[in-house]
Amino acid sequence: MPPVTKKLDSPRERGDLFVISAPSGAGKTTLCRRLLSRLEGVEFSVSYTTREPRKGEVEGVDYHFVSESRFKEMVEAGRFLEWARVHGNFYGTGRDEVIASLEQGIDILLDIDVQGARRVQELFPGAVFIFILPPSWEELEARLKGRGSEDPERVRLRLVNARSELEAVHEYKYAVVNADLYRATEELEAIVLAQRCRISRVLSRPGLLKALKPSSA
Ligand code: ADP
Ligand code: 5GP
Repeated sequence: MPPVTKKLDSPRERGDLFVISAPSGAGKTTLCRRLLSRLEGVEFSVSYTTREPRKGEVEGVDYHFVSESRFKEMVEAGRFLEWARVHGNFYGTGRDEVIASLEQGIDILLDIDVQGARRVQELFPGAVFIFILPPSWEELEARLKGRGSEDPERVRLRLVNARSELEAVHEYKYAVVNADLYRATEELEAIVLAQRCRISRVLSRPGLLKALKPSSA
């Protein structure tokens, strides 16, 4: 194995893309928030959506809430890295902001559905794909209803869609079962930290290779 000090022109450290999907109600938003409050150097990509804001959701924090015509203009203008129709609304990831952050070495968390994840897989095969599983179907149903953010008809649609979304778990690299919130948060954090410890990422830390060069040969 060549010595680590051999290659001194290390490439600039780039951030990693973490793609998180789950059926609605599994606890993805809750887990993402907890992860973001615990770890430095990781940011949430605020998606654009045509769905109505829920009580307590903040423009620019939870989503950028846009009209359907504005969303379509953005699609035409190529502003999305990926976009999809999910549960009857449009959702999309802003392209430029994600790429700029990754280039600055910031890790980015994408909370997107399975269709969006497939598109990201084509564009960024090195992204890390994580699926959040509920501990049981009954618990998923209870959480979705208990959240109280959708009317019964919309809850029903989300549960119908959850069946096919759960089947997509095999397409992901990691799965976190969100039974106990504390344990699930730790598992999610462990995935992010392990990714940050890959050789290629560690050796691209600014100045590390230079610092490892013996001062006298
Ligand atoms: P998603 O973003 O996947 O649709 P949310 O994060 O909104 O799901 O969670 C759905 C509901 O379940 C919320 O009311 C949330 O407080 C609750 N919840 C999330 N994780 C857990 C957990 N581990 N145990 C119990 N309730 C949870
Ligand atoms: P919610 O309406 O519950 O916030 O989100 C519904 C679904 O849309 C979730 O599966 C969520 O991951 C997905 N979603 C949120 N933002 C995006 C996005 O930018 N692109 C895609 N493809 N899905 C998204």
